[in-house]
Amino acid sequence: MKKCVVLGSGIQGLSAAYYLAEAGHQVTIIDPHREYQGASWVNAGYLTPSHIITIANPKTLTNGIKWMFRSDSPFYMKPRLSPDFVRWLWEFYRSSTPKKVADAIGPIEQINLFSKECYETLHQSLKMGTFQLDQRGLLMLYKTAAAEKSETAVALRAQSDGLGVSFLDRQGLDRIQPGIHAGVKGAIHYTCDAHTTPPEIMTLLMDHLKKKGVCWVEESLDRWEVSNNQIKAVHTKTKAFAADYFVVAAGVWSKDLLKRAGIRLSLEAGKGYSMDVHRPHPIKYPAILMEPKCAITPMEGWARFAGTMELSGINHRIRPERVKAIASAVSAYYENFELNTSEMQQARCGLRPLSPDGLPLIGPTKKYPNLMVATGHAMMGWSLGPGTGKLIQQCIDQEPTSIDLKPFDPNRKFS
Ligand SMILES: Cc1cc2nc3c(=O)[nH]c(=O)nc-3n(C[C@H](O)[C@H](O)[C@H](O)COP(=O)(O)OP(=O)(O)OC[C@H]3O[C@@H](n4cnc5c(N)ncnc54)[C@H](O)[C@@H]3O)c2cc1C
Repeated sequence: MKKCVVLGSGIQGLSAAYYLAEAGHQVTIIDPHREYQGASWVNAGYLTPSHIITIANPKTLTNGIKWMFRSDSPFYMKPRLSPDFVRWLWEFYRSSTPKKVADAIGPIEQINLFSKECYETLHQSLKMGTFQLDQRGLLMLYKTAAAEKSETAVALRAQSDGLGVSFLDRQGLDRIQPGIHAGVKGAIHYTCDAHTTPPEIMTLLMDHLKKKGVCWVEESLDRWEVSNNQIKAVHTKTKAFAADYFVVAAGVWSKDLLKRAGIRLSLEAGKGYSMDVHRPHPIKYPAILMEPKCAITPMEGWARFAGTMELSGINHRIRPERVKAIASAVSAYYENFELNTSEMQQARCGLRPLSPDGLPLIGPTKKYPNLMVATGHAMMGWSLGPGTGKLIQQCIDQEPTSIDLKPFDPNRKFS
């Protein structure tokens, strides 16, 4: 039995704690924000083997430049002269080449399929109780020929790799999802995808870990104790937590935690918003509205409307114009359905941890081999949570990993 300390209790931290506890290790979770219900709570709940193209790609660059100063667009960047941010932007730019995008497809598919399998195993095992894991797939709804063309190219590639895809014209779409606005031309249906209800799984996981004897500490790291190229302990203001292994899984805050150990991690916050509707709604299928880039999910008894990517640093400021942009997009794609003022006022946000190349950072650090990293999952962090947790456990137990971890090496360079 090894002693393990996990910093962060989002989906990555909880998943690592889950598999470490299952393997018989003694686990402590440290997270100063008991009430924090960020990215892992407010996300759209998609499990997305279909998302084979990383966010770092040439199209993000061209759209990003077009959109970046419009605060109601799907992508918004607040101009900042922070050296870290400027460097991250440079690394993102250098990662956004057609070759790097193509090279990333295989690793993304592998980790997505592996993590989806982990969700399915958790679901079947009933160890944490029952939760929604709905396999009806994801619709990509498009209005323009340009969106149809670009998503068709991605879908054909996904299909050639064996992922389930079907192409729906307008009549085919109406058969499965009535109530769609006349301007929508059709959809690509990724039948390989699934969806879940994030607050349900987060609550079940937390309860399960507490029952399994995982210890919870609501404090912040004060300093790392180091000796002989090993981390010996995490010191908080009140106590020291000695362990054999440490896992930094604190989302966007991981960068600061690692900086204090003298390790530079290139990470930026990508803020996204979501709104919940607890009343009758027309949503039968999860859908991404391609032009405004909004994500709609029928959860267990309610529906969630999410979207936007805002690069404005680490803050939880809700910008009304961005909430309104999501609401306007919804009524432009669904007939006779609108988000009301109260639903918009209750919008929440979460910070996606964005690595410069859009691939997660998973595995041991070079500087301290007993210090593990599990972050940088960007738009796919919910999908990749259990898979990442299992991979971290395999690294700690020095078992062969279920997939090749080289593309996700946290020590990799980006330019
Ligand atoms: C609107 C929206 C929709 C999304 N939709 C999807 C989707 O459909 N599918 C998908 O796969 N992904 C989706 N994502 C992305 C996904 O939600 C994130 O990538 C994922 O939740 C990140 O998980 P995390 O555990 O790394 O970070 P977080 O969930 O941010 O958790 C980080 C934790 O670290 C803690 N922490 C902070 N400071 C410290 C510290 N000093 N010490 C210890 N702990 C600390 C925080 O309190 C928090 O509990 C979406 C994100 C957003 C915002």
